[in-house]
Amino acid sequence: MSSALLENYGVRDLALSHGAGSYVWCEAGRKYLDFAQGIAVNSLGHCHPRLVEALTSQAGALWHTSNLFRIPASEQLAEKLTGLCFADRAFFCNSGAEAVECGFKMMRRYHYSKGDTHRKAPGGDTHRKRIIGLSDSFHGRTLATIAAAANSTHCEGFLAGDAGFDQAEFGNIDALAAAITDETAGVILEPVQGEGGIRPVDPNYLKQVRQLCDENKILLMFDEVQCGVGRTGTFYAHQQLGAEPDILASAKGLGGGFPVGACLAREAVAAPMSVGSHGSTFGGNPLAMSVANAVVDEISSPDFLEQVRANGARFMQSLRDLQAANPGIIAEVSGIGLMIGVFLNVDAGRLIAQLREEGLLVVKGGNNSVRLLPPLNVSHDEIDQAVQLIATALKKMESK
Ligand SMILES: *Cc1c(COP(=O)(O)O)cnc(C)c1O
Repeated sequence: MSSALLENYGVRDLALSHGAGSYVWCEAGRKYLDFAQGIAVNSLGHCHPRLVEALTSQAGALWHTSNLFRIPASEQLAEKLTGLCFADRAFFCNSGAEAVECGFKMMRRYHYSKGDTHRKAPGGDTHRKRIIGLSDSFHGRTLATIAAAANSTHCEGFLAGDAGFDQAEFGNIDALAAAITDETAGVILEPVQGEGGIRPVDPNYLKQVRQLCDENKILLMFDEVQCGVGRTGTFYAHQQLGAEPDILASAKGLGGGFPVGACLAREAVAAPMSVGSHGSTFGGNPLAMSVANAVVDEISSPDFLEQVRANGARFMQSLRDLQAANPGIIAEVSGIGLMIGVFLNVDAGRLIAQLREEGLLVVKGGNNSVRLLPPLNVSHDEIDQAVQLIATALKKMESK
């Protein structure tokens, strides 16, 4: 298969042609149960009628205006998102990494605006700029976001120095305390780690992180690009983990498959982002905003979120039963809501390949894990089908 594409994604041998809800079909005509969903992006499954309607009706009216003009749908979405969480202001962009980047800029700008003079570096550089990231994190693939996560595979050959980022061990409050200096502007973490293998933070640890940030007068940003927008059964994951951030990055599921990102912040943190300080050509584009408004209307209803929690608990219990029956293969099942990780004692790639054979698409995660990311409106039946397919795959792997 020759191609003019960059080879960064490696060999991919399955081309999907169409989808409906939890199912997707490949070009060769085979049907799959899709628990990858574009890596937690298609939050309402494939081609949800309400999203198709939002997108196509907007497509017939106006595609793009730039931020030279008011975009009413972006004002509505900002109103909705800030009404659903701690935040007072929203900035719209096109991806997760851009949402995180905006948050990093906000952190530095906040301290700059305070005219911090506690530290006088050579060159008259006086404000706090350094940002602490945690181990096994993922924040995107731009220069700043790879520096924050410091995954060596992602950084190799790309960084100039430390780019202003420090690291601390995930879940270790003493390590975080030790990493904070008088140059630290803030901390970024995923309330539920995604790419690194699905792991919710311990709520006690999260509260301690919040307290540590307050004591040191530094900012706390949550990267909810993967775990946000209903994925865990609350609109944002931190809402069931006992601590609030100053800044939050949102993307993936927010557009239900249409590219969109948002950076949300408290007023005091958002205020220094004055006219001209930041921007995006496509950010808040009418097409993205129409779809995201429809996604948020659907997902933010209490009944919908309750359903995510119930289905997540059901799925998790079935997977724990499979773990108990297959301790040689499954090491651990972890997760929250419909964001579930299965950590393996055998090569995760083997299970993923076997599942595809059986007709179930899933995603690889870090630390030799598999991520199960069904659409949030998945049915009981579809979850039971997935459990059956996983049971079959495990049986075949055992006999191999
Ligand atoms: C996917 C992801 C990102 C990056 O999002 P992109 O849209 O690929 O830039 C950032 N943070 C987390 C937690 C993610 O899962």
